[in-house]
Amino acid sequence: CGVFGIYLKKCSEISRLVYFGLVTLQHRGQESAGIAVYKDGKIQYYKDMGLVREVFNDNILKRLDGDIAIGHVRYSTTGESYISNAQPLVVHYKGGAIALAHNGNLVNADKIRSKLEDNGCIFQTSIDSEVIANLIAKYYKLGYKEAIIRASKEIKGAFALAIICEGKLIGVRDPNGLRPLCIGKLGDGYILASESCALHVVGAEYIRDVKPGEIVIIDDNGIQSVIYDEFSKRALCSFEFVYFARPDSVLDGQSVYKSRIEAGRILAREHPVDADIVMSVPDSGTVAAIGYAEESKIPFREGLLKNKYLGRTFIQPDQKIRELMVKLKLSVLRENVEGKRLVLIDDSIVRGTTSKRIIDMLRRAGAKQVHVRVSSPPVKYSCYFGIDTPTRKQLIGATHSVEEIRKAIGADSLGYLSVEGLLKSINMTSEKLCTACFSGNYPMKVPESGNKYLFE
Ligand code: 5GP
Ligand code: SF4
Ligand code: MG
Repeated sequence: CGVFGIYLKKCSEISRLVYFGLVTLQHRGQESAGIAVYKDGKIQYYKDMGLVREVFNDNILKRLDGDIAIGHVRYSTTGESYISNAQPLVVHYKGGAIALAHNGNLVNADKIRSKLEDNGCIFQTSIDSEVIANLIAKYYKLGYKEAIIRASKEIKGAFALAIICEGKLIGVRDPNGLRPLCIGKLGDGYILASESCALHVVGAEYIRDVKPGEIVIIDDNGIQSVIYDEFSKRALCSFEFVYFARPDSVLDGQSVYKSRIEAGRILAREHPVDADIVMSVPDSGTVAAIGYAEESKIPFREGLLKNKYLGRTFIQPDQKIRELMVKLKLSVLRENVEGKRLVLIDDSIVRGTTSKRIIDMLRRAGAKQVHVRVSSPPVKYSCYFGIDTPTRKQLIGATHSVEEIRKAIGADSLGYLSVEGLLKSINMTSEKLCTACFSGNYPMKVPESGNKYLFE
């Protein structure tokens, strides 16, 4: 998911700024979009299924006027894809109204939910955010600040939150810093965003990242910082650098673009091959492919073109249509492929279905050899922190050896970036990064099925 928040007085276009921010964060979630605004103690909101540009129009944005606003784009990893699960979540409790947007996944939401239900709480959605909102409501008598501190300490897992509460914009980052969240300055106001690329689009200047285990409270007095946990291991998600984040973002000081170039260069050193051209599976493999080409001195060419006008909100009724969809999305540039030995770079192999279809298309277009190089290690373990790397039996890297995967996808050779190579490309040590889906080293206790040796 992606979250965005803004605190800016006397701006008649506040919801439009959130809209721009959300369009920029659209890659982080395509299922639903929503905006909540605060004015004179009241919170108004609008949310629906679909892309940001499908959900909002001029009229809706004009109605959403206020001094504080938050927005959300959703990518579901827990809770089904229903409108009631769209965010921001707006709830009323004894202390007033609160709006909350969450990126991440909690590992103890079910436990807390069940405890709250035992005490008479009623839940209307199946999302973790409602658990967080209810915890804040439960502690409201202690004051909003203490309530948010208590709630943040009680929940476990990944959370980057943007909250409107008591006339303040509040940002919270989980103690491991699994999901990114940064702060920007815009005139007299402030912005919170999942990624720095969303700051620049509204003309804001990057100030800093929210620290792992930090709550930032933004109002007319500026930014107040509360550190509620300083002892947890830092574990920014390495998959953000591999695939999830936009290349023009900088996460905790590290450029995503630079790390992808570097991943491609290291991959070329770890798995060299004689070939005529380097190409990528667009768009996610392209930056690494440029790095691979630079290092290997094999020219980079486009071998596949992506249709830019396809959203991801397609209904995919049956297998046949799903297969046609791949052709709708990607087409082969025959003149770069025919008779050639190709290095095909992709950012990751999750289920293995995409690679197989693409290699098939390339062979039918006359490719002589297809050598697949992947700019991340094999995905072997499920993510519990908000990336959709599913149950282990669906992960081809968990059930197959590299040689078996090569055969299954029909490649002439296959090479993955090593875990050490990945860390090096991001220029951070394993002390600062989560690599659990590749290494099985989770930064915290995860549900039983996360056990290295168990399959769900
Ligand atoms: P698969 O191997 O599952 O067929 O597809 C892997 C491709 O999907 C990768 O190249 C990557 O670009 C993309 N991908 C990786 N992780 C995710 C994810 O969590 N969600 C979505 N929608 N795509 C992903
Ligand atoms: Fe990111 Fe993988 Fe860790 Fe999940 S398990 S947070 S995808 S590195
Ligand atoms: Mg891809």
